[in-house]
Amino acid sequence: KAKEQGRNCFEFFTSGLHEQATARSKLENALHKALSNNEFTVYFQPIVSHDKKTVGCEALLRWHSAELGAVSPAQFIPVCEELGLIIPIGEWVLREACREASTWCNCFGEQFFVTVNMSSVQFIRQDIEALVKTVLRETQLSPKCLTLEITETLLADNSVNTLQQLQALRAIGVGLAIDDFGTGYSSLSYLKRFPLSKLKIDREFIKDLPDDLEDCAMVSAIISMASNLHLEVVAEGVETAAQRSFLTALNCDYIQGFLYSKPLPAASFDKYIREFIDGQHLNQH
Ligand code: C2E
Ligand code: MG
Ligand code: MG
Ligand code: MG
Repeated sequence: KAKEQGRNCFEFFTSGLHEQATARSKLENALHKALSNNEFTVYFQPIVSHDKKTVGCEALLRWHSAELGAVSPAQFIPVCEELGLIIPIGEWVLREACREASTWCNCFGEQFFVTVNMSSVQFIRQDIEALVKTVLRETQLSPKCLTLEITETLLADNSVNTLQQLQALRAIGVGLAIDDFGTGYSSLSYLKRFPLSKLKIDREFIKDLPDDLEDCAMVSAIISMASNLHLEVVAEGVETAAQRSFLTALNCDYIQGFLYSKPLPAASFDKYIREFIDGQHLNQH
């Protein structure tokens, strides 16, 4: 009986692995064609200031595959990184984001910013400084309107080349945000060593505010530390008014989350901010 069970388990296990491998190769094949098939879109999620004005947005990649339907970036970005596809895809996202943002910066002025997620692989394999300069020139976007979101993984890599690229980007006015702060191999020394301008607190710390007292203490400490280091703070994944009240009371600079809006296609985001520009009051929440 036990033997039988064992055998069933084994069979189940192998067929599971086989299915996984098939699914994975389907995903890889579809990804290879995705860019040339125009299956990608960039969405934009509002980033809202302390005084409830939309002052920027995060560019987020969306993929609707002809074969697989909608696939989440959490699922396909790591595969793109492994396959090296993150280089052309990341370049495409940066160009799209800057192109759309140049219109918004013309309306809002240079205080408006778009943030673009950058994979560590891009920094390691590519000259990001050169790419950013080219894209800014092509799209006529002011460097002040662009912030790159980088992760602790990149900073942990501790390469001289990365540090030099980041310093060069800051020198031309491009902002640097540390994304998902607190979830990676955090070391507080990164905040000192790298020329960062913003810190994004991961949703993991936000989701149980204000009931979880430990999260309250952590978020409060992160905000005051960031403020002492002259880093602007963005709270990610804010969904409730109670979370916003807590964060606002601590002088958190920016709020991003479903409370204000989900990520929107460019045309919808454009409409969302134009209501604010034209009506001044319309988009104050
Ligand atoms: P991220 O950069 O931390 O982006 C924030 C994620 O949280 C987004 O998920 C966004 O849709 C989601 N989000 C925003 N507000 C809320 C909220 O109130 N509640 C909840 N539950 N979620 C919220 P998304 O778009 O699925 O992206 C997942 C991750 O994939 C991103 O995390 C980022 O690491 C990566 N990613 C997305 N686009 C790109 C890209 O163009 N390049 C690279 N390298 N990575 C990207
Ligand atoms: Mg991000
Ligand atoms: Mg994040
Ligand atoms: Mg995140």
